Order: sequence, then C-alpha cells, then structure tokens
Amino acid sequence: MCFNYHKFIKFAVKQFYMKKKIVIEYQEFSSADQLSKADAELLKEAVSATELSYSPFSKFRVGAAVRMANGQILKAANQESEAFPSGLCAERSVLFYALSKYPGVAVEALAIAAKKGRKLTATPTRPCGACIQVMLDAQKRGGKPMKIILGAAEKIEVISSVNDLIPFSFDNL
Ligand SMILES: [Zn+2]
Repeated sequence: MCFNYHKFIKFAVKQFYMKKKIVIEYQEFSSADQLSKADAELLKEAVSATELSYSPFSKFRVGAAVRMANGQILKAANQESEAFPSGLCAERSVLFYALSKYPGVAVEALAIAAKKGRKLTATPTRPCGACIQVMLDAQKRGGKPMKIILGAAEKIEVISSVNDLIPFSFDNL
C-alpha cells in the first residue's frame, strides 16, 4: 500500500484546528413602551441629549445617557472640533463624565440615540470601536454587566453586556 500524502495532509489539518462560532444574543423592540420603565426613561434622556450635540461638521447629533448604580442619570452628546478629529463621541463623553463624577460607582446601563438634522435615525446607531473599548473598561471598573440600549425610530436594540459587542477583547495585562 502506498502512502497517500494528500490524504494525510487533509487528515492532519482536520486534527489541528477547530472551527468555532460566536453567537451574540440581543433583544429587539419596536417601541420604547416595551422596555422597562427605567430603560425607557434612560432612552428618553439619550434622545434629549442629542440637543446637547455640537456637530456643525457632520450634522449627526448623538446623545448618550447612563444610569449609575447609585441611581444617578447623566447625559452627554458628541462634541466636534475644527481640528478634526479632536472631538469626542457621545458615549465616551458621558462615560468619562460619569466616571469622573462618581468614581467607584458602576454604570448599570448606557442608552444611545442619534438624529440626522432634527430627525431621529430610523435604525439604531451603534458605538464605534474606540467607544466600545471604553465601554468595556467602564464595565470592568463597575464589576458587573453594563446594559446597552440602542434607540431609533423604527426599532430599539438591547444588549445585555459590553462583552457581546467585543467578544475578542484585550484583557491580558
Ligand atoms: Zn465612538
């Protein structure tokens, strides 16, 4: 019997790697009425925070609101700069503000909403990569999952932990 090299390679490859899959679960709602009272209230604050946006360049007004473990609700919006890209997203603005004001207090939930001009976006505005990293840092500091509520005119998405947004996170320090 002669040795089948190709068959052997196929066999070897099969043995040395494993195909894996990551599944992200999240909830989708068609209206804020379906959220808990506290989450609906937080989303309302995020929508009102869009009015605090300074976005003369993009005209994309993003508002974010956090609910802290001590019951406090804080909100902020994206702030743009003439010296692009020196501005900051709404999510990082509100998180840095909240963690400076209440260091050691966990952020329980973060709601995000955005308007193009005066109109709420039809679909949810998801945080950028840099904000997701800072959200993960804030969640670690708080020591418990931070709920993310992404509001929009047509649907609302609720993600139960920042880990779901960044499953392959940097955590080897
Ligand atoms: Zn961002």
